Amino acid sequence: MTTRRLVAAAARVVVKVGSSSLTSLGGGIDHGRLDALVDALAARRAAGSQVVLVSSGAIAAGLAPLGIGKRTRDLATQQAAASVGQLQLAHAYSASFARHGLTVGQVLLTADDVIRRAHYRNAQRTLVRLLSLGALPVVNENDTVATDEIRVGDNDRLAALVAHLIGADALLLLSDVDGLYDGDPRRPGAVLLPDVEDVAALAEVDVARPGASGLGSGGMATKIEAAAMAAGAGVPVLLAAAEDAALALDTAPEGPKLGTAFRAQHQRLSARRFWLRHAADVRGRLDLDAGAVAAVIERRRSLLAAGVHGVSGEFVAGDVVDLVGPYGTVVARGVIAFDAAELPALIGRRTRDLPPEYRRELVHADDLVPLRGS
Ligand code: GLU
Repeated sequence: MTTRRLVAAAARVVVKVGSSSLTSLGGGIDHGRLDALVDALAARRAAGSQVVLVSSGAIAAGLAPLGIGKRTRDLATQQAAASVGQLQLAHAYSASFARHGLTVGQVLLTADDVIRRAHYRNAQRTLVRLLSLGALPVVNENDTVATDEIRVGDNDRLAALVAHLIGADALLLLSDVDGLYDGDPRRPGAVLLPDVEDVAALAEVDVARPGASGLGSGGMATKIEAAAMAAGAGVPVLLAAAEDAALALDTAPEGPKLGTAFRAQHQRLSARRFWLRHAADVRGRLDLDAGAVAAVIERRRSLLAAGVHGVSGEFVAGDVVDLVGPYGTVVARGVIAFDAAELPALIGRRTRDLPPEYRRELVHADDLVPLRGS
């Protein structure tokens, strides 16, 4: 089936919309545009699909009420703006969806919620339960508490993470650009690419990166990255203009004839491995000898203390660490079972020589994902 047909037929769809499509500088939320988006989402719901909305706009919506004239880089001010704006955004969505008899649920996530197993299972359960109860989840990053270190940072990637998390059948990225071009779209002669078969190969194309509009934080680079994350994990993606939301969400069998469609690759990564590969906030590194690299990469074994000769970083059990081979290349990433402080006494030793309470894998095979190119 073509990607467009898959997008049209998707029973569970994640839709991401950016700040610049919902807010205006100085004006806060643009209710006309928000209502138009909501109408398109409600129509898709009425057609029988489950819909999750990942909406930006909290920071942008909070600026005007606080009397701040332009987007700020200061973290505390962004957090304050998000606090004000998120409330307004949630209220606007709640009122707008109510016109269609739909109930919304707000889900604010931090990067931590999508890295740690206990947390992402939690987020997954909440989202899926909201859907089964007939509510429409509205997701954003919890910008009020997110700091630079623990931030996903842009909602394009957050939407890809959510799409994978809930096993979505399609991801729609709605933006202020109408698709991906083969060059700067402001230049005459730039051509929209209707279909991208292999998003991973895109790095070789001279892809358009129109500058940020001043409201969103995404830009084209994060859209491609998000498309690569989702498509690479088996979720088809359509990138289209937010003003064309109704067309992009249409369920006509041949699929929406607009935007750029990114074909999904066949393999579906397990949720755990997907998070590890894309969302991990890496806290440290372990240096492996060649034998350990072969064991974990080729034979998919767990990492034992004997194959590790160096450790660095500050981490605790449950954190994500890079596994580095003898040539200094990161070959895998995994969830470490010990605190950094415990490791110097363990590494390089055979498991049976360790005190009984330490006789377990440093990184279990289920908690380990080889990285591309390794
Ligand atoms: N979470 C941010 C907000 O709601 C937006 C992030 C983005 O622009 O991608 O303001």
